Amino acid sequence: MIILVINSGSSSLKYQVRDPDTGERLASGLIERIGDSSHGGPSNHAEALDRVTEELEATLQGKPIDAVGHRVVHGGERFSEPVLINNEIIRAIDRLNPLAPLHNPANVQGIRAIAERWPDMPQVAVFDTAFHRTLPEHAWRYAVPDELYKKYGIRRYGFHGTSFEYVTRHAAQMLGLQAADFTGIVAHLGNGASVTAVQGGRSIDTSMGFTPLEGLVMGTRSGDIDPSILLFLLREGYTEQDLDQLLNRESGLKGLTGHNDMRSIEEEGSPAGMLALDIASYRLAKYIGGYHVAVGGAQALVFTAGIGENAWRFRERVVKRLGALGVFIDDAENQKPGGAAREISTEESAFPVLVVPTDEEAAIAEATAAVVLKK
Ligand code: AMP
Repeated sequence: MIILVINSGSSSLKYQVRDPDTGERLASGLIERIGDSSHGGPSNHAEALDRVTEELEATLQGKPIDAVGHRVVHGGERFSEPVLINNEIIRAIDRLNPLAPLHNPANVQGIRAIAERWPDMPQVAVFDTAFHRTLPEHAWRYAVPDELYKKYGIRRYGFHGTSFEYVTRHAAQMLGLQAADFTGIVAHLGNGASVTAVQGGRSIDTSMGFTPLEGLVMGTRSGDIDPSILLFLLREGYTEQDLDQLLNRESGLKGLTGHNDMRSIEEEGSPAGMLALDIASYRLAKYIGGYHVAVGGAQALVFTAGIGENAWRFRERVVKRLGALGVFIDDAENQKPGGAAREISTEESAFPVLVVPTDEEAAIAEATAAVVLKK
């Protein structure tokens, strides 16, 4: 099968064409500046799709697409697995918009644009929250009045689920296990970052919460802070928009160093950069310690995504803090360039530390093919 994978954002549309049987990537591209026609961008998602179609005509040379898989950020409490899209499903995703105001409306626009252009094309929604639907209530509840959960759906949802599911499967394979027998900790460290406790192949806790802001120190997001800081700043005259901008776009590595990307920080080696790496690695190591308890003893620690796969200095900082768990890094393996799948711990380590490259588009293509074939 040939699957078009769409990741539709509010002002951009990323796509890849994948053959899920071989893993081959037949085409890929990015349409930017949607809604910014004064700078040459398409005026909406339908026009963005015109550009994708033009690019695909050139690269695929007549090869037909069998189905479209969409990355959908929020599946709320309803969606625990990928689903075939119909009008009712579109309405259900639409109803989740308040939970993901930046992402879900754009995802729906991408789905509608495809439905208008190719009405008979099977479309599948793959949800970023779905893998975390197995969280036990003690992990997803916040200690706030019940009314906030009942009225607004305020609870932990967790994100990066497609990546966690894919990486769990591949880590299990590397260890000679079925995914259902994998118990460990998976750290997805990209521009956005989160860490998940996996027990018997299922997510039982994860660091992102009601939104992707909670948890680890990220490229531009603060991760965990005392919520009273927001109340303090409101009293100081900050607006809701100011706080959103501050915590989602100007904090994290960027707030601490001026750079949001790990590579520049590692290359520059400034004192502020080194402190930022200390803060971020310390935070992650604390989560790993906590999740070791949560899963009843991890059998593996897995690093993935841009930083997890490539930033060996950062991995070293994290693992060096795990001596109390009996986990030790093999410097030579860790420092090998490239993000190839491998074990980077010593033989004495209490459990293996792995690097496992993620591939969310491959995971979406595989899930889409599976749903369409089941139809
Ligand atoms: P992602 O969101 O998964 O694409 O990850 C982006 C992050 O990975 C950015 O912080 C990049 O600086 C970081 N990254 C990518 N390649 C490297 C590298 N070779 N060394 C250090 N960090 C890297």
